[in-house]
This record gives sequence, C-alpha cells and structure tokens, in this order.
Amino acid sequence: AKAHGKARHEVFAPSMHAQALKQLHIESDLWRSIERQELLVYYQPIISLTNNSLKGVEALVRWQHPEQGLIPPDEFIPIAEETGLIVALDRWVLQEACQQLSLWQEQFPSVTPLTLSVNFSGKHFAKPDLTEEIDLILDQTSLKGEYLKLEITESVLIQNPESVAEIFQLLRERKIEVCLDDFGTGYSSLSYLHRFPLSILKIDRSFVSNLEIQDSNAAIVRTILAMADELGIGVVAEGIETTSQMLFLKNLGCQWGQGYWFSRPVDSETMTALIASKYGM
Ligand code: C2E
Ligand code: CA
Ligand code: CA
Ligand code: CA
Repeated sequence: AKAHGKARHEVFAPSMHAQALKQLHIESDLWRSIERQELLVYYQPIISLTNNSLKGVEALVRWQHPEQGLIPPDEFIPIAEETGLIVALDRWVLQEACQQLSLWQEQFPSVTPLTLSVNFSGKHFAKPDLTEEIDLILDQTSLKGEYLKLEITESVLIQNPESVAEIFQLLRERKIEVCLDDFGTGYSSLSYLHRFPLSILKIDRSFVSNLEIQDSNAAIVRTILAMADELGIGVVAEGIETTSQMLFLKNLGCQWGQGYWFSRPVDSETMTALIASKYGM
C-alpha cells in the first residue's frame, strides 16, 4: 500500500498535473492553429563558409498562441507527431515557405537562386502521395524542384527503408534533394549513407558547440567531413555561435554553416531585409 501511495503521489505531483493540463490544452488548440492562422514560418540563413554568400534558408515553424505567446517547435512538434496533425502542419509550412521562396527568387534574381530547406517528419515523408502533394505546391508557387530540399532525420530511413527508397527515386526525378538532419545523434549506422541518395549531411549542433574545447568533437567532425567528401555529399554545420567555431569549421573544409553567429531564425520581413542588406543580393 505504501508503494502505491508513493506512486500515486508522484503521478499527481502538482507540477506534473500542471504539465499534463498544459499538454492537453496545447493538443486541442493545435488542431485549430492552422485554420486560425496562428502558425508562422521563420527563416534561418545557410551560409557558404568559403565566401560568406547566402546559399539558402531553412524554414522553421513557430506558433503564435493567443494566450501563451510565441511557442517554440520543441513544445508542439512532438504533440503534432503523436496526434498525426504533423502531416497537415508540415504541408502548411511547405506551402507557405515555397510561396515565400518564390517571391524572394523574383525579388532577388541571381545566377545561383536561393534554396529552401523544409523539415519533414517521418510520418509525412512516408506518405505514398507525398510527391503528388509536393508537385501541386511547386506548381502553385511556380518553384522548381531543384531549389527545394527536404530535411529528415536518420530514424526516418531506418523505420521504413523500402517505401523510403521509392520516395527517394520520385524526389530524384524532380531534382529535390534530401538532407540528413542532426547527423551524428541518431543510430549512426553508416550503411544508409550510400544506400540512399542523400545530398547533404547536417552536423548536429552538439558537435559544433564545444568544438574548440573538446578534442573528440573535432575528431568526429573531421571524420564526418572526410567521409562526406569521399561519398560526394555536401555538409552543413549547425549551431555555429562563435567566430572561432566558424573559422575552425572553415579550416576543416566544411562548405556551409548555419547558426546564431550568422543569424537567428527571423520572420520573413526581417529575412527580406537581411537578404537585401547583409547578403547584397
Ligand atoms: P532542427 O531542424 O535541427 O533546427 C535547428 C534548430 O536549432 C532550430 O530550433 C534553430 O532555431 C536552432 N538553432 C539554429 N542555430 C542555432 C545556434 O547557433 N545555437 C542554438 N542554440 N540553436 C540554434 P527551432 O526553430 O526551435 O526548431 C527545433 C526543431 O523543431 C527543429 O530542429 C526541427 O526538428 C523541428 N521543426 C521546426 N520546424 C519544423 C517543421 O516545420 N516541421 C517539422 N516536422 N519539424 C520542425
Ligand atoms: Ca532541420
Ligand atoms: Ca538539425
Ligand atoms: Ca533537431
């Protein structure tokens, strides 16, 4: 009975109760967030470490909740994944961001047009009619597939290798590239690196954050860069926050970088101003 009492006490500890309630509220509000137009797309630049030019942007969703203010994705993406709402959410972000990229390409014509990276949850990526959905959006926004990149994590490749292989083929026909996000944090089985035609590895922030202090991180980053080079895969380093991290990665031969040192994710208007001023496009 004592053990029971303790367990029950833990379950109903006030903080957990509040947490559960908050989660319930978020869940029901999230269903209405799209039609209420509460979701926003922020953009973070992806920069060439060799010549500091702007390669493209990553779309990152935000939720402008009427009472709770701006909610970061880590607080609602997991809930959206559990409830299946993620498919509609990812589609909305894709549509919105493609529209925006199309505008930017028009406004800032360039020999190397900007690219757009969009995060895709596994549930969405494994959808059989995924490419039809993408075709429709590209068509509506007059955007070419070669400027769109989809970011997925390692777990997506492992959970569903057969259907994923088919999707890769369909995406390849459209010149849509796939990036492996958070590289190094997942299962780290390297076999899928040549099994699937991946275009870009994104080195997880955790390896970048104490690059100069921890020798083992530098060794891991060096190894990832050598391997990617061998396989003909590009590399983006995530979470660059300091000048020394940026220089370290540049000296190791990493092509692209992303992080607060360049810019935090910003709304579309701020990004437009950045493209015009800082990146001189
Ligand atoms: P992610 O795809 O790995 O995105 C990078 C995250 O790192 C972003 O967090 C970004 O704001 C943050 N970040 C970028 N540079 C730095 C830096 O220098 N230092 C630090 N400390 N952080 C940095 P954010 O925007 O909060 O997004 C968190 C995660 O939520 C994303 O991680 C992604 O997994 C997920 N997510 C965001 N938008 C979407 C979406 O539209 N669909 C799906 N399925 N997932 C999304
Ligand atoms: Ca990402
Ligand atoms: Ca990442
Ligand atoms: Ca992540």
